Amino acid sequence: MHDLDICIAGGGVIGLSLALELHRRGLSVTVLEQGQPLSEASTAAAGMLAASDPDNPAALRKLSDLSLSLYPAFLDRLDELSGIRVPFHTSATLQAHLAPPSNELSTEALADALPQLTSNNRHFTLIDERSLDPRHLAEAVLTAVRATSIDLRTGTRVLSVQSVGDSVEVQTSTGAFHAARFINCTGAWASQSSLAPGLAIAPRKGQMLAVALPPSLPLHLVLRTHGMYIVPRTTGPHAGRAIIGATIEDAGFDKTVHSKDIAHLRSLANAFLPVLSEARQLEAWAGLRPSSPDGLPFLGAMPESRNQFVAAGHYRNGILLTPATAHVMAQLLAGESPSIDLADYSPSRPLPSSPIAQ
Ligand SMILES: Cc1cc2nc3c(=O)[nH]c(=O)nc-3n(C[C@H](O)[C@H](O)[C@H](O)COP(=O)(O)OP(=O)(O)OC[C@H]3O[C@@H](n4cnc5c(N)ncnc54)[C@H](O)[C@@H]3O)c2cc1C
Repeated sequence: MHDLDICIAGGGVIGLSLALELHRRGLSVTVLEQGQPLSEASTAAAGMLAASDPDNPAALRKLSDLSLSLYPAFLDRLDELSGIRVPFHTSATLQAHLAPPSNELSTEALADALPQLTSNNRHFTLIDERSLDPRHLAEAVLTAVRATSIDLRTGTRVLSVQSVGDSVEVQTSTGAFHAARFINCTGAWASQSSLAPGLAIAPRKGQMLAVALPPSLPLHLVLRTHGMYIVPRTTGPHAGRAIIGATIEDAGFDKTVHSKDIAHLRSLANAFLPVLSEARQLEAWAGLRPSSPDGLPFLGAMPESRNQFVAAGHYRNGILLTPATAHVMAQLLAGESPSIDLADYSPSRPLPSSPIAQ
């Protein structure tokens, strides 16, 4: 016997957006969050919808493209439920390359796009790509969830999950839950304890900072090079600030911010935009990206289980991939064929023995 249709572990942007999509389809949903919702990776992110980042694995493209196509409707639905309209802040990214790409920007076009840039012997392309503020997105998602009958339990840590007949029994720090299906959306924690011991997800720490842009640098596009990006907020209460990120570190679950790492990020940014050396630092923080050995998320049923699922491992692109993840997971749970082939993201796919560097 189960009391509810779906039990989701993890109240990050993935778990809560999936909860909204399942609720929209008429299912009863409970989300179990060990701490406070949306206080981990989902609010540590820069907010680039970086489908064309050359560091992305090629197999991420189809999920990224699906997500980009779903983004406007996703934001509309959040607005309908929450009354919060999350705007895009930028619509172009200046991407630096070490070798000249075929569509390299001319010196004149580069000077037009960003006159203050020092090219540092790099080559640049201009990519159509948007960004948004993940903290604003989080506020809209949480308000939307609270406007529905989704049962969001904070301070409730999932300890173990067991299939019992056609149900799952979920043991938590505050008692047991019984549901028809369980979905593990616990991000960097997804392979911890007995939730999904076989899943190859590990935390990858990212430190970053926010600065107040000097008035001489009205930045309206993202600047990205291998190892560093600058993402401006162009509208709303945080207009005029920019995020500079981010380190990529294997440091377990440690989220300490180190001033030397922040200083290093600043020096990388200053090398491209010397005017940034005047920028006042506003904050610095760290978050834990859920990484997998091939850089792709795990989306689907757990091996040898009909009623336990996973949607985790979105690594550097969880904000980008949120609408598509919610969409294809809801399709899977409803027994529909998903809009794209999910074989590349299968929890039982073969994995490389050594993880990708990025
Ligand atoms: C520095 C940095 C920059 C980034 N920049 C970008 C970017 O520009 N664009 C982009 O698309 N993505 C970016 N990302 C990646 C993106 O933030 C993540 O991929 C995404 O937030 C993952 O969402 P999630 O819901 O899976 O994880 P989280 O937001 O971490 O949520 C997981 C939740 O599960 C909870 N949990 C864990 N274990 C349990 C348990 N046992 N029981 C109950 N609850 C549990 C946690 O408390 C947490 O709230 C960035 C990440 C970082 C760290």
